[in-house]
Amino acid sequence: MKLLIVANWKCHPKTLREAKLLFNSIIKGVKDIDAEVVICPPFVYLPVLKATGAQDVFWENEGAYTGEISPAMLKNLGLKYVIVGHSERRKYRGETDVMINQKVKASLAQGLKPILCIDKISQIPDNLGKGAVIAYEPLFAIGTGQTCGIEKAKKMRLAIKRRVGAKTLILYGGSVSSHNAQEYIMGAGFQGLLVGGASLRPKEFVDIIKNVCYR
Ligand code: PEP
Repeated sequence: MKLLIVANWKCHPKTLREAKLLFNSIIKGVKDIDAEVVICPPFVYLPVLKATGAQDVFWENEGAYTGEISPAMLKNLGLKYVIVGHSERRKYRGETDVMINQKVKASLAQGLKPILCIDKISQIPDNLGKGAVIAYEPLFAIGTGQTCGIEKAKKMRLAIKRRVGAKTLILYGGSVSSHNAQEYIMGAGFQGLLVGGASLRPKEFVDIIKNVCYR
């Protein structure tokens, strides 16, 4: 099965011109690589870039919800994946497990694959629908350069697998770089990666992908 490598650009870059340059250099760098590479730029760049992932979604499909972007809108733009429950949204936007689970359900109902970010098993809903992806992202490792030990990561992957079953893809995220990516795939057995900061540096991001795909 192909590895799933997801780029979370967060709130970068500041201009569409930079976004196009970044997107095109990543696409060019990975064109001969056998992995599913999903780039999640800010919403405003999605239609121009024709990216396949978004960083968040609302739980209603339309209505009087100023500023929200719905699962139906993303699906109709041709997107396949959406990140939900990222720790930065839990922290800065007050998202709760209840809200995040509504987003997971609403995304699945529209045929979008939610990438549910968790750092504790208890954040996984009881009936996680078919098609959802889990990203294990230990809080201390997100955007800090601090890496999670391989044994700890592997233990968590196995605990998540026991909870969600073998059919659900499980990704690792948290200060992934071209130096440590292989260990999370080959050592800890994850089926893909969620990459933040390093996905804004095209050469580094492409190197991460090459390192885990040319095994
Ligand atoms: C993320 O944004 O999900 C993330 C893991 O960020 P970073 O790779 O920068 O730690």
